[in-house]
Amino acid sequence: MSEAGHDIDLVERRSCDGCVMCCKVFPIPETGKDDFALCPHAREGEGCGKHDERPDVCREFFCTWRLDASLDDAWKPDVAGFVLHDPAPWSLLMSCDVDDPEAWRREPYESQVRQWAVEMQRRQLLMGRRCGGKTTVMLRDREIVLDG
Ligand code: SF4
Ligand code: SF4
Repeated sequence: MSEAGHDIDLVERRSCDGCVMCCKVFPIPETGKDDFALCPHAREGEGCGKHDERPDVCREFFCTWRLDASLDDAWKPDVAGFVLHDPAPWSLLMSCDVDDPEAWRREPYESQVRQWAVEMQRRQLLMGRRCGGKTTVMLRDREIVLDG
């Protein structure tokens, strides 16, 4: 289906309800929010406190869980503890909650993430994770820290 105002196919019967992970792990200058700081308008466990007036950048973002039906509800970001998305040049990027940066190592996540790293490298696609100021390229058998 396409959500009103968007030409993007979202997974049916799936919503952001209660999740504010993308309101934490990205910088949003329109709200004066720094990278990895919770937006002042976010209400944890509820959602956006100014939903009707939220900036376009917020309206236009959907994480991979909202877009990919193959990810079950364990991958909802407020359950998993990280947001999957694909900003260029990344084909898959995991943005982690600074308050729980190792959440992705819990199962079922790490096994699947490692499988994706193998597949991405085979297809010569870029996969990584970011947390705080640290960005890491994830390869089949090693990791490369880019900064921080
Ligand atoms: S991280 Fe995904 S599920 Fe959570 S609020 Fe953002 S778009 Fe919705
Ligand atoms: S304005 Fe609303 S949707 Fe945008 S980051 Fe803040 S809480 Fe999230």
